[in-house]
Amino acid sequence: CGIVGYVGPKPALEVVVEGLARLEYRGYDSAGVAVLSDGKLQTEKRAGKLANLRAALQANPRSADGIGIGHTRWATHGAPTDGNAHPHVDEMNRVAVVHNGIIENFAQLRMELEERGCKFRSETDTEVVAHMLSEQLTEHNGDLGAAMRSVCRRLEGAFTLVAISEDDPGLVVAARRNSPLVVGRGNGENFLASDVAAFIAHTRDAIELGQDQVVELRADSITITDYDGAPAQVREYHVDWDA
Ligand code: GLU
Repeated sequence: CGIVGYVGPKPALEVVVEGLARLEYRGYDSAGVAVLSDGKLQTEKRAGKLANLRAALQANPRSADGIGIGHTRWATHGAPTDGNAHPHVDEMNRVAVVHNGIIENFAQLRMELEERGCKFRSETDTEVVAHMLSEQLTEHNGDLGAAMRSVCRRLEGAFTLVAISEDDPGLVVAARRNSPLVVGRGNGENFLASDVAAFIAHTRDAIELGQDQVVELRADSITITDYDGAPAQVREYHVDWDA
């Protein structure tokens, strides 16, 4: 339902949770975040209101290395439980992903992954993406952008996906098809979200991703390509209204 990503010098957990709060008006049934803490991927996710997630984060405080992603879920596949909430991670806890939309061919993809011995922990369509990203990270020597492009070529349906991995702790990667994704360009920091409302408190310089595009976001760079890695045309604009 709602998606937020951040990379930069600010406390990433706070920026992400605050961004999710600005998307609350859309409605949701669960919420979660993933950060890198001393290079290790850490996730926290809870069914119910953002207050439940905030309480869980307070009970188990952790640092964040200037990178984080967050999600508010509106369940389509699997009940609104803690386990089905996003982010979803692979078996090695190497990569975390959040997703808006529906992966139409997830049953086929899940079967293929299970045949290769992959163990699933949730009933969501989304979890296939975590396992596929993990396999492709190995295939592409830890290059999360290349892994995301490769995974997206196999997905059908509607999705905004955002991922971070331990392989490249300064990088947030996102992709879209039939579902919105906007980048917020900051000064020494960058944002992304399903809706500009999530980041206009920080920046009003926005870049709207086009259909079937992937963005690689670092604190000081934004690279946007198509699913084959070719540079993509994007629309840059200034948000001059109040979201
Ligand atoms: N299909 C995914 C799920 O049910 C994502 C739903 C959403 O857009 O929040 O977990």
